[in-house]
Amino acid sequence: MIDPWSSAIVDYEKLIEQFGIKPFSDLLDDVENPPNLMKRGIIFGHRDYGRIVKAMREKTEFAVVTGMMPSGKMHIGHKMIVDQLIWYQKQGADIYIPIADMESYSARNIEFNESRELAITEYLTNYIALGLDFNKKNINVYLQSENKLVQNLAYMLGRKVNLNEMKAIYGFTGSTNISHLYVPLIQVADILHPQLEEFGGPKPTVVPVGPDQDPHIRLTRDIAERFKNRFKFIAPSSTYHRFITGLTGDKMSSSKPKTAIFLSDSPEIAAKKVKSAKTGGRESLEDQRHHGGIPEECVVYEMLLYHLVNSDKELKEMYHNCKEGNVMCGECKNHASEMMMKFFEQLSKRRQVAEHEARKILSNNVR
Ligand code: SF4
Repeated sequence: MIDPWSSAIVDYEKLIEQFGIKPFSDLLDDVENPPNLMKRGIIFGHRDYGRIVKAMREKTEFAVVTGMMPSGKMHIGHKMIVDQLIWYQKQGADIYIPIADMESYSARNIEFNESRELAITEYLTNYIALGLDFNKKNINVYLQSENKLVQNLAYMLGRKVNLNEMKAIYGFTGSTNISHLYVPLIQVADILHPQLEEFGGPKPTVVPVGPDQDPHIRLTRDIAERFKNRFKFIAPSSTYHRFITGLTGDKMSSSKPKTAIFLSDSPEIAAKKVKSAKTGGRESLEDQRHHGGIPEECVVYEMLLYHLVNSDKELKEMYHNCKEGNVMCGECKNHASEMMMKFFEQLSKRRQVAEHEARKILSNNVR
C-alpha cells in the first residue's frame, strides 16, 4: 500500500513491477524535444502517456493538472513540478493548478485563510519566479474551497465509491476524520473537471506526480471509467518522477529543514547548504583518486543532474571526472555551490517582484 500522506518511497523498480507503472524509457523516443527531467530518467514511469504524446504531436487539445498543497515552504525538489509545467506550457497544454487548501485543512490542520496566504507568498510566488507564465490564456489556478464546480463534481463522483474501497486504497481507519476521507474525491474532481463540457469536453489529461501520489491516480482512473457513459471521461495519464534526496541523504522534506534547500533561502545560505550535503566521496583522497567517487550516491551530483547543469555534455564530463577520480569532492562541491549561488541570486531577484503578481492571480482566477 502507498500512503500519499506519509510514505517515503525509494524502490522505483518495485513500483513499476507492483503497481503496473510503465517505464518512461519505453516512449521517450516518441517525445519531441523532451526536457532534461525526461531525458535523464528523473521522470521514470508513466501510465498511458502515449495519449499525451499523440496530442502533442498532432497539436490537439490536452490538459495538465498538478496541485499544490500549501503546508510549508517550497524546497528545491518542488521545482521539478514547475519545470514540467513550464515545458507543458510551451507544448500548448491547458494548465490547471488546484490549490489543495481542503486537503491542508483535513490532513494538516491548516485553516483556509492560512493556506491562501501560503499559496500566494510561497507557492505562486515561486512558480512565477521560476518562470511559469500566468499571463497566458490557458492557465487556471483556484482554491479547492472556493471552486463549487469541483466540489459538486466530487460529490457526484462519490456515489460510485464506497468506504471499503477508500480503506483499501488509503489505509483509512475508523479514526480517520470525515473531511480527510472526502479529500481524495476532491482531488479526483480536480483531475477530471477539465474534461467537463464547461472546459471543452473530454480530452487527454496528464498528472505529473511523485510515486507517493499514485493512489490518487489509480482511484481517479477507476472513477473515470465508472462515469464514462455519463461524462465520456478519458482516463487520465500520469508521469512519475523520482524524489530529490535531502542534504543528509534522506528524502528532502519541508518539515525537516536540515534536509532541504528552500526556494526562499538567500543565495549565500543555499550555496552553504550545498557544501554541507552528503557526497558519494571515498574515505580518503587517496582512495578517491584510486577508485573514483560514487555519483549515484551523491546528493551534490543529484543537484547537478536535476537542476544545475543544463548541458548533457557538461554533465557527462562531470560524471566521468568523478568516476575516474579526476576531481575531489571539495572542488566539486565548490563548483556546485557557485552554480547554486547564481541560480538563487536570479531567483530571489524574481521573487521580489513575483509576490505582487501572485496576489493578483488568485483574486482574478477564483471561480
Ligand atoms: Fe559527488 Fe562531486 Fe564527490 Fe563525485 S566528486 S562524489 S559528484 S561531490
